[in-house]
Amino acid sequence: MARSISYITGSQLLALKPRPNIAVIDVRDDERSYDGHIAGSLHYASHSFSDKISNLLQEVKGKDTLVFHCALSQVRGPTCARKFANYLQEIKEDDGIKNILILERGFNGWEASGRPVCRCTDIPCKGECA
Ligand SMILES: [Zn+2]
Repeated sequence: MARSISYITGSQLLALKPRPNIAVIDVRDDERSYDGHIAGSLHYASHSFSDKISNLLQEVKGKDTLVFHCALSQVRGPTCARKFANYLQEIKEDDGIKNILILERGFNGWEASGRPVCRCTDIPCKGECA
């Protein structure tokens, strides 16, 4: 059965973020390095997303909710979320992932509504700023 992918708003994400079982996946390309990012988010750039999809699965082991976003969450974010959902379906592993979500309005919407932006250069972001 294909997994459904739904949308989450910035305020819903902000409320969920303190939970340890959520991962935010930023699929922007170079913009991440100069526009800042959501604290604690993982970076899997859309241009190499398919090549690194198995690494992403390893990195989100133990999480049950994944939130994808790009700058606007109109093209790259939904495309990568769909690729990941299809990948999970193909490998048929018990991954424990219950929710695949897309952040509405993406990073730009997040920042425009005044939500915290982290500007660290740590890879991965430790999520302690903001
Ligand atoms: Zn950071």
